[in-house]
Amino acid sequence: MNIKEQINNLREGLRQHNHNYYVLDNATISDYDFDIKLKQLQKLEEAHPEFYDANSPTLRVGGAITKNFNTVTHDYRMYSLSNSYSKEDLEDWETRIKKLVDGAIEYTCELKYDGASISLTYENGKLLRAVTRGDGYQGDDVTANIKTINSIPLVLKGTYPSRFDIRGEIVLPFEGFHKMNEERIAEGEDPYRNPRNTASGSLKLQDSSEVAKRPLDCLLYHIIGEKLPINNQFESLEKAREWGFKVPPIAKVAKSISEVIEFVDYWNVHRHDLPYETDGIVIKVNNLFQQEELGYTAKAPRWAIAYKFKAEKATTVLNEITYQVGRTGAITPVANLEPVELAGTIVKRASLHNADQIEKFDIRVGDTVFVEKGGEIIPKIVGIDLEKRPLDSLATIYIIHCPKCNSALQRQEGDAKHFCPNIDGCPPQIMGRIQHFISRKAMDIDGLGSETVSLLVKNGLIHNYADLFELAVADILPLERMAGKSAENLIAGVEASKNVPFERVLFALGIRYVGETVAKKLSKHYKSINGLASASEEELINVDEIGEVIAKSVVDFFSLFENNDIINRLKSYGVQLEISEEELSNQTNKLEGNTFVVSGVFIKVSRNELKQLIEKNGGKVSSSISKKTNFVVAGDKMGPSKRTKAEGLGIAIITEDEFLLMIS
Ligand code: AMP
Ligand code: ZN
Repeated sequence: MNIKEQINNLREGLRQHNHNYYVLDNATISDYDFDIKLKQLQKLEEAHPEFYDANSPTLRVGGAITKNFNTVTHDYRMYSLSNSYSKEDLEDWETRIKKLVDGAIEYTCELKYDGASISLTYENGKLLRAVTRGDGYQGDDVTANIKTINSIPLVLKGTYPSRFDIRGEIVLPFEGFHKMNEERIAEGEDPYRNPRNTASGSLKLQDSSEVAKRPLDCLLYHIIGEKLPINNQFESLEKAREWGFKVPPIAKVAKSISEVIEFVDYWNVHRHDLPYETDGIVIKVNNLFQQEELGYTAKAPRWAIAYKFKAEKATTVLNEITYQVGRTGAITPVANLEPVELAGTIVKRASLHNADQIEKFDIRVGDTVFVEKGGEIIPKIVGIDLEKRPLDSLATIYIIHCPKCNSALQRQEGDAKHFCPNIDGCPPQIMGRIQHFISRKAMDIDGLGSETVSLLVKNGLIHNYADLFELAVADILPLERMAGKSAENLIAGVEASKNVPFERVLFALGIRYVGETVAKKLSKHYKSINGLASASEEELINVDEIGEVIAKSVVDFFSLFENNDIINRLKSYGVQLEISEEELSNQTNKLEGNTFVVSGVFIKVSRNELKQLIEKNGGKVSSSISKKTNFVVAGDKMGPSKRTKAEGLGIAIITEDEFLLMIS
């Protein structure tokens, strides 16, 4: 046997043992023998670097260090799931989807694993990359860390498609979690709070050998790609298992919602016996063609729904109400609670939302309150135990002055929240706007963290985000904790941000209600800050998906002299305030004013590419057919009910070639 064959044999053998042990839970070799083989392989690989393989089992032990995780755009967006909490919610969902698809509907029921979601891309049977969910469109490339998770195959088995994405959840099973905590306590460190946060924190560790030490697991539930040999969700779980992935055998096909409910009821009790955390059941329409017909809303698939197990409740005492000032000046009252354990974490604070909420529940300091934790990070107060209210308790009087700058608070009609109007002089607003400006999804300025920002503001070096561009190394050096290197990094980071594309700059400006998605929409539509600044409220409302509230907020923003001044300064520094030539030349408005629905399988371009082409050419993509649809681009296997519906409404149904002609 030559060296290459020896190496291949060892790799193949180790892979199989690994699969048996971590995926099938059935060891076929002793740990000792496994280690011997691994060491043999390591030695051979070291001596023969020409046979390097990025997916060798030796890479499981980690070692790669990642300083900055690259941002990667998902080939397919990672959606979230709509939630349901009762039998009635599930029945309503069924009623809604039955209106949209033909024929009987079967459902797959799966556990909703509570961890961190991950998207794995495989090409020619090898793990190409692993990306976190991020904002659903883009996530972080955490491949080096993911490779250390033993239940994720680096090389697939059987017959698999040449390229596909598979999605799952990285979880930290209880046993491993407790073990990690025992070790931490023994070393005098604070234990980790809960498995989910520990799992998701692990993905972003810089040292992959640290990740390798954590007993993480990956449970897969969704395959996505072009022309897959799969007809339904249940089959895709089986295929994933065949290819070597870990897919819990608990999933079941249900023929009706009442069967779904049986599954829910059963697992609501038995989930406590599972080795990992779950927070609900995910119900999916089984048939993939029906899924395709149902499509997506802006946030989630219509073909799936999560049933959330009832949140756990705890009782505690409200010690104090404090008030936070956000970057937009919005005031949020916060309940400071007597610490209490809830669903595995210690809860000290809960959001009280606004003055109306406090008044409605008549919440008072000293009250015994019920707190509940749903999916959100900050728990909610859901009720008060009035019997325990102290006799001398006083009704809460909402503040009328800003807790940070003492300005009289304002509350506009229709607003639930109070605002501090002192935009220019209120420290948390000044700081908050700058912090938002430099944040990762905005200008992503390296070398500038929130501590540095507050240092710069406190020392009077910056007052707004435009001031960042006038900083010089010599200004920063005298500050405490600012070494030469970090000062240079900061200036370089500011300089580099001049390349950030307009849509992100627009988001960075911090206009109220203009989040990432809205900023994208507006930049596509207006193409420059000047275009946007001169738009009237009516014009803005006419832009797709822009409502009154956003329109008003944009107009208000540009009506302030200070804001225009700052924007002019940004322009003079060379910040991107219009979309680039390249983006422009890539775009046409050939399809402007037309809404398209895409259905079926295509030959020349993928469905995803087709959608991108529509948007690049000024058209709009919608996932369901309505009176507003202008064209349906029909591929192979288009759903029959979509066709009937389009025909009924007299909508033009065109082929892939006809579409490509439209934009050529
Ligand atoms: P949420 O974060 O509450 O919107 O729920 C959506 C998330 O549930 C997805 O992004 C997945 O990470 C996670 N999830 C866990 N188990 C499943 C499953 N069996 N099917 C689909 N999603 C799941
Ligand atoms: Zn203030």
